[in-house]
Amino acid sequence: MAVKENSRAASVLRKDDLIVIAGAGGFIAGALARYFHEQGFTRIRALDKKPLPEWYQHVPGVESLCLDLSEETNCRRACEGAVEVYNLAADMGGMGFIERFRVECLRSILINTHMIESAYRAGVRRYFFSSSACAYNVELQKDPDAPALKESDAYPAMAERGYGWEKLMSEMFCQEYWAERGLQTHIARFHNVYGPWGTWDGGREKAPAAICRKVIEAKDMGTREITIWGDGHQTRSFMYIDDCVEGIDRIMHCDRLIATPINLGSNHLISINDLVSLAEEIGGIKLTRTYDLDAPKGVGGRNSDNTFIRQVLGWEPDTPLKEGLRKTYAWIEKQYRDRKAGKRTVS
Ligand code: NAD
Repeated sequence: MAVKENSRAASVLRKDDLIVIAGAGGFIAGALARYFHEQGFTRIRALDKKPLPEWYQHVPGVESLCLDLSEETNCRRACEGAVEVYNLAADMGGMGFIERFRVECLRSILINTHMIESAYRAGVRRYFFSSSACAYNVELQKDPDAPALKESDAYPAMAERGYGWEKLMSEMFCQEYWAERGLQTHIARFHNVYGPWGTWDGGREKAPAAICRKVIEAKDMGTREITIWGDGHQTRSFMYIDDCVEGIDRIMHCDRLIATPINLGSNHLISINDLVSLAEEIGGIKLTRTYDLDAPKGVGGRNSDNTFIRQVLGWEPDTPLKEGLRKTYAWIEKQYRDRKAGKRTVS
């Protein structure tokens, strides 16, 4: 079926077409399952290796299966009858995780390898892969004021060791399944995503959630201190979760983007120091800062060049950071209080 540039799932799928979402016990795929459910899709199959009680979100009416997708037989089962497959399952986390657990990150290649083959055999119409800005050449990201990354900057390749190389190889699988076998694949390179229902503690959390939690902790404990990883001058851009799921839908249903990696991120660059100031402002407190220069800090600067996405989709993520962070902070504060009260929380 021909799909125009501004198509969305709602305009090209029947409401009872089966949508399969991998990694749905986690942050982004959990939000994606909710997004499709809210649009009235009646057959959504959500997959994750985590036991069901540990899933971040439970969306009513969604078929939720606990399956380890690094096993081929599980992927075959997962893709049976699917019209579209979204693969967002990966063993991943913030810099603290991906700098330390490279083997786990690399092993995620098994998930995409088996999922794409199973999707192909099941005759699915479209396949989505969640890549990352970590696939870009790290040599281009040394300075806090490094130019924003455009799609061609992935090659010559010098990706983030482990996690980034896995993403780059999986992108290539997607491109070759289209070139050799005609499976329609779509690839988004996410730049840092944040928002409610994301990991906020435990070692896999990313900077926005970690900083909100530290501000909340400092207020609660009365320490009035915060430790920042690195010198705080590193820069990043942060995309709110609602923009991310909308972007996934738009990218998946655009014919010009078949087998063509595209940035999905905000292009509002901010230093970690300024991100801390924003969280302090939201929390209504000023903290004394110490800098842990030995902590994992990732590249010096990373931003998303949105020229291509604007050109192809006439759209880009645009939720203001202050607005998104305010919602995220409020959600983490509630989680923090719930945990103190002995209730089950996401982490
Ligand atoms: P997440 O950790 O919250 O979700 C990933 C889910 O995949 C987890 O629930 C995990 O249990 C599941 N998983 C891991 N191994 C599995 C396996 N073998 N079988 C089945 N499920 C498995 O992470 P997220 O932030 O929601 O990220 C989703 C995707 O987006 C990932 O591919 C990630 O690499 C990519 N991404 C995320 C960001 C970000 O800022 N969050 C940035 C760039 C790329």
